[in-house]
Amino acid sequence: MTVQFWGVRGSLACPEPEVARYGGNTSCVEVRCGDRLLIFDAGTGLRSLGNTLTRSGRPIDADLFFSHFHIDHVAGLPFFAPIYEPTTRLRLWAGNLLPSRRIVQAIGQMMSEPLFPLGPDSFKAAIEFHDFYAGDVLKPHPGMTLRTAPLNHPGGATGYRLEYGKSAIAYITDTEHRPGALDKDVLQLARDVDLMIYDCNYTEEEYPAHVGWGHSTWQQGVHLANAAGAKLLAIFHHDGARRRAARPDRPRGEGAARRHIGCGRGPDAALLDSRKPDRPHETPHRWNLLLRVPGPASMGSNSIALGMSPRPIPPASRTGGFFSAV
Ligand SMILES: [Zn+2]
Ligand SMILES: [Zn+2]
Repeated sequence: MTVQFWGVRGSLACPEPEVARYGGNTSCVEVRCGDRLLIFDAGTGLRSLGNTLTRSGRPIDADLFFSHFHIDHVAGLPFFAPIYEPTTRLRLWAGNLLPSRRIVQAIGQMMSEPLFPLGPDSFKAAIEFHDFYAGDVLKPHPGMTLRTAPLNHPGGATGYRLEYGKSAIAYITDTEHRPGALDKDVLQLARDVDLMIYDCNYTEEEYPAHVGWGHSTWQQGVHLANAAGAKLLAIFHHDGARRRAARPDRPRGEGAARRHIGCGRGPDAALLDSRKPDRPHETPHRWNLLLRVPGPASMGSNSIALGMSPRPIPPASRTGGFFSAV
């Protein structure tokens, strides 16, 4: 399984050069399970992913899972080039709309006058719509299971746990924690996952001014990742004003392991080791983790790749923009 981040901002895309180090696009994560392509959310990062897929010249067959339909998670859909190709097959999944609404309505609403010049009838791809209830278990393809749960967010959102082969990742955004408590649904999704992607829009200092806005903090992400036994935590859904990852420069507090990988060039999402509290640099990961930081910086460069490589990677190797996490 490989994971690539195409957009990690929350709420609004931000093109300012000051924030380019961590990327300006909103939520979009590409996951490859064998030859299957899965996409989590259709934020503005989907445009860059679509352009890359189109350049491959191959017909696109993909499943796109929405956390919910706030604009930062769907705005990229009309700009996803493969959706205008008749050879593209796309399955859209969402768990927060039933029973009163459906995916096709939500997209139609976004793509309608006076908000947008084209309607969804401009799409040429073969599209299937799969509305479900958050909490359902999805089996879109053989050998692949997605467990889902409702998140604490205005209008609802869906968290995902993807299991494929011996790997598992959790995609959990947008969600607000209850201070002092660990969300049982989130813990279940993230139990022992290899990578937990979590809504870390705020710092603990910022949060009190945004209670009820539907987002969490990186500190809560660390609490949850530790409690769930997640091996890595990806700080995700950064506030648009953030010029650096929402984390302290040096790990401190609670004894939690906190390691920022590849910090020299700055990936979009800070990655935290939640398993090795004392001497993270002396103990290799169970996974050989590749961090790819494409450059040069531009609007489209806000992606990193986490490749669960079957081959050992030399410790601290840094060649061609690849950072080893051991
Ligand atoms: Zn959002
Ligand atoms: Zn939202």
